[in-house]
Amino acid sequence: MTSLVLFRHDLRIDDHPALAHGAKQGPVLPVFLSDPREDRGAAYQWWLRQSLRSLTQGLADLGLPLICRRGHSEEILPQLIQESGATQVYWNRRYAQAERERDQQLKSRLRQQGMVAESFPGDLLTEPWTLLRENQPFKVFTPFWKKFLQSIEPAQPCSLPQHWLAAPRLPASENPDDWHWEPRNPDWASPLLAYWQPGEPGAHQRWREFLDHRLRDYAKGRDFPALEKVSRLSPHLAHGEISPRRLWQMARERAAAEPGLRPAVDKFLQELGWREFSWHLLYHFPQLPTEPLRAEFRHFPWQEDRTSLQAWARGRTGYPMVDAGMRELWQTGYLHNRVRMIAASFLVKDLLLPWQWGAAWFWDTLLDADPANNNASWQWVAGCGTDAAPYFRIFNPSLQAAKFDPEGHYQRRWVPELAALPNSALPSPWAYPETLESLGIQLGRDYPLPIIDHAVARERALAAFQRISVRTGDHNL
Ligand SMILES: Cc1cc2nc3c(=O)[nH]c(=O)nc-3n(C[C@H](O)[C@H](O)[C@H](O)COP(=O)(O)OP(=O)(O)OC[C@H]3O[C@@H](n4cnc5c(N)ncnc54)[C@H](O)[C@@H]3O)c2cc1C
Repeated sequence: MTSLVLFRHDLRIDDHPALAHGAKQGPVLPVFLSDPREDRGAAYQWWLRQSLRSLTQGLADLGLPLICRRGHSEEILPQLIQESGATQVYWNRRYAQAERERDQQLKSRLRQQGMVAESFPGDLLTEPWTLLRENQPFKVFTPFWKKFLQSIEPAQPCSLPQHWLAAPRLPASENPDDWHWEPRNPDWASPLLAYWQPGEPGAHQRWREFLDHRLRDYAKGRDFPALEKVSRLSPHLAHGEISPRRLWQMARERAAAEPGLRPAVDKFLQELGWREFSWHLLYHFPQLPTEPLRAEFRHFPWQEDRTSLQAWARGRTGYPMVDAGMRELWQTGYLHNRVRMIAASFLVKDLLLPWQWGAAWFWDTLLDADPANNNASWQWVAGCGTDAAPYFRIFNPSLQAAKFDPEGHYQRRWVPELAALPNSALPSPWAYPETLESLGIQLGRDYPLPIIDHAVARERALAAFQRISVRTGDHNL
């Protein structure tokens, strides 16, 4: 009666409904099934390798060896079933279209063969089909979240069984090192370990540290990249190392114990709500990663300029806040939300580059690359999502820098060639020629000249948006 439990983007033991269910039935065979059709970007895959090491250890501590296999799931799974003699297969649900369809086909095929095949709630607070208005998906966040808070109580995280039984017959495992997710020549990824501890214990440690030390100032501090008031849980969530149900439950408990924390907890849960909303959009609008959700944007006059893309991606636009963000991303695999918005807005509105180009770069370089959050956010910034920023709200990168990095700590950290500039000059150094000269800084030599004049770019963007006569809603930036 061995139960095969599949792990995909849910690399944890705590609140893993399929694992908990399998363990209650009897012997368990945990399998990490890597389907190449589901690979994400390079940074995500690197983290995945680290996270697998941690999961292997965590399961081994319970006496359960993790079997790793790579290939098309419809081919690998029958082999594993045969080699292990398993009669039951369990997994947590996934909500992106291709993965969902693959899992559904798997389920019907297994059932036709007389196997027990069952799926369980995945890594969301609620299943995306449960929250609708008049049978239609929500398209705007505010009513979505209002209805969520009124009508949904996320399930309690499932409890761990007392006893674990390993499967008597163990198929051979592949070595994930052979899948080459850790770059060698050059090894650009190892330095990331200075910033992160991939794996379930690292996720819980970061979460506890956030609850104890940063949550209190989250609501006010979360917009200031230099303050480090955000949780930085996103790579852990993207790899399923901690479940949103666990975050929900623990955050609520903390607010109950300390009522003064309630506003901060509500704000944090609302951000988890944005994650939920993005997945809701991806589930109901599977074209989200490729097609603008507002049809009129299909005719938007994007500029296909690879040189500008290169300058943006490398942090060499001449706008210190944009460049700081893009360099943070390159060096740490993470980018603060406020700076994601500034850098993304610069790409789509100042440079008029297709949002899909920016999304592709983020996909490859973000440790938290997530098909729902990434594409929904890019569509939101570009103005072509269902709940998008109005087109006339074009971020001025210098004003954003002055407002959200007033002391310049963030810009100085990532753009050290300008570190000597006074706070007032840092966001737009080209406007302070005398200061530059007195400090011996020459734009074009020590730091790029702006690749575009923001005022000109703004007019160009407005003209382009007007040509497709977009009607927009409002959004609280
Ligand atoms: C252009 C762009 C691209 C993005 N791409 C991704 C991506 O690939 N993966 C990703 O996880 N997030 C993405 N985001 C959303 C957001 O920037 C990150 O989730 C957040 O910065 C992660 O940092 P944190 O964990 O410290 O967030 P916290 O502020 O601590 O929030 C806690 C959690 O809530 C969720 N969350 C917070 N803000 C958002 C948001 N605006 N949208 C959706 N979920 C949110 C995340 O899961 C996050 O880990 C993107 C945002 C923009 C503007």
